Amino acid sequence: MNKQRAAPIEMKADEFRAIGHHLLDRIADFLDSLPTRPVTKGEAPPAIREALDSNRIISDLGTDPAKLIDRAADLLFDHSLFNSHPRFWGYVTAPAAPIGLLGDLLASAVNQNTGAWFLSPMASEIEAQTVRWIAELLGFPTTCGGLLVSGGNMANIVCFLAARQAKAGWDARVAGLHGGETKQLRIYCSKETHTWVQKAADMCGVGTDAIRWIPTGKDLSMDTVQLQNQIRADKEAGDRPFIVIGTGGSVGTGAIDNLPKIAKICRAEDLWFHVDGAYGGLAAMLPDASPELRALSEADSVAVDPHKWLYAPLEAGCALVRDPEKLRDAFAYHPPYFRFGVEAINYLDYGPQNSRGFRALKVWLALQQVGRKGYEQMLADDIRLAGELYELVAKQPELEAFTHSLSIATFRYVPPDLKSGSEETEEYLNQLNTELLTRLQNSGEAYISNAVIDGKFCLRACIVNFRTSLADIEALPEIVSRIGREVDKEMRTETVGHV
Ligand SMILES: *Cc1c(COP(=O)(O)O)cnc(C)c1O
Repeated sequence: MNKQRAAPIEMKADEFRAIGHHLLDRIADFLDSLPTRPVTKGEAPPAIREALDSNRIISDLGTDPAKLIDRAADLLFDHSLFNSHPRFWGYVTAPAAPIGLLGDLLASAVNQNTGAWFLSPMASEIEAQTVRWIAELLGFPTTCGGLLVSGGNMANIVCFLAARQAKAGWDARVAGLHGGETKQLRIYCSKETHTWVQKAADMCGVGTDAIRWIPTGKDLSMDTVQLQNQIRADKEAGDRPFIVIGTGGSVGTGAIDNLPKIAKICRAEDLWFHVDGAYGGLAAMLPDASPELRALSEADSVAVDPHKWLYAPLEAGCALVRDPEKLRDAFAYHPPYFRFGVEAINYLDYGPQNSRGFRALKVWLALQQVGRKGYEQMLADDIRLAGELYELVAKQPELEAFTHSLSIATFRYVPPDLKSGSEETEEYLNQLNTELLTRLQNSGEAYISNAVIDGKFCLRACIVNFRTSLADIEALPEIVSRIGREVDKEMRTETVGHV
C-alpha cells in the first residue's frame, strides 16, 4: 500500500467542480422546463424497469462519475411524476423551494451529525433557531422544545410518545404497557384524522383499539359534545384517557377542529392536547386565520410539516412540545445531571433518532429568503387559488362543488342528465369519478387526488404550490369535464340500460 491513499470513491476538486457545475446547469434547465412538461408520463412499472435496466447485476468495476450523474439525471427527469410542477395538486405535496435544494447540498457537504451538540455546534444552533422561528410563526411559545424529523407522521408520533409518558400515570417507558399501574390507555381524535394515529397507536404498543374515533359534524370537524361524553364514560369505566388530538386542517378536506373547545376540555380533564397541524398548522400565521385554528397555540404539542407549507424539499417535519422537559422525559437516556459539560441541546435526547442529518438548514434558509411576509403572501395565494377553483367548479354545470377549506377544494363530475340521490346513481357516480381520476392522473395534464365525503367519491385539489397560477387553476374544470364526458359515454355503452 502506498503512503498516500487513492480511494476509488474520492474525487479531485477539479473533477467535483466540473461535474457539479454541469449537474447544477441541468437542474436549472429542468426546473425551468417544468411547465412545458406533462406532470407525469403515466408509465407502467415494466416501462420504468426497462428504462432502468433493473435486472442488471452490480458491476465489479467502477463507472465514470460524470456519466453516472448524467444518466441518473436523465432517468429522473424523463421518468418521474413531478410534484414540483405548477399543476400538481395531489395529497398535500409542495414543490421544493430552490434555496432548499442548495441547502441540502451544503448540509451534505459538511455532513454534520446533529445528534449531539459537540458534533454539530453550528448546525444544532441553526436547528434550535429554526424550531423557535416556526413556533413564532404559529404563535406557539418560543420556549418550547422541538426538533426536525422526517415528516408529519414522525412529528406527530414524537409528540404522541411525549404525551404517553407524561400522562399514562406510570412510567410507561420502563414498565411498558403491562407493568406499573397499568390501565387501558385511551386516545381521542375525529374520524377525519390522518392514518398516522393508527401507526402511532400500533408502533407505541397502545394498540389501535385504544383509539376513540369521535364523529364529526356537518363541517367535518370533531363533535366536541361527543368527545366530552366519551372521555367521561371511559373514565367511569376505569380507563386512562391520555391524549386528545385536534386536527388543524384535515388531510381530506382541510377541516379544522374546534381547537379552543378541545383545549378547554383537555384542561378540565387533565389530558394532553395535541394538534396535528401537518397540513394546515402554518396557516395560523395568517392575519385572518380563524380562532379555531389559532388556538393551536394552547396545545401541549403541535406537529407541522415544513416540507408542506414551508415548501422545503423532503424530508422535513417539525415536532413542537410546550414543555421541553416532556420531550427529554420521553426520549433521553441520560440522567438529567449528565450534560456533556455544555449547556446546549443534544438532539438525540429529544427524539428517536441517534445520528441525524441536518434537515433544518433548508428550512432556515427559506424562512430568511422570504421572511414572514413572504410566507403570508404565498399561503394566502394558495388559499385564494383554491377558493377560485371552488367558485369555478360551482359555476360549471357538469361539476358539483363540495367543500373549500384552507387550500383544498373538493368536487365531482356529474353528467348533466343525472340527478344525484338514488343509491344506484351514487354508486354510478362513484365509479365514474374513480375512473375519471385514474385517467386524469395518468394524463399528465394536471394531478389531483380524492376525498370521500359522506360516502361520495370526490375529486380533491390541494394547492400547496407556489408555482401554481390562476391560469393553471382555470384550466382544470374543462380538463375534468372533458375526461368525465369521455368516461360517462364509455360506461353507459358498457352497461346499456343500467342507468
Ligand atoms: C401530510 C399529513 C400527515 C403526514 O405527514 P407526512 O409528512 O406525510 O409524514 C399527517 N397529518 C396531516 C393532517 C397531514 O396532512
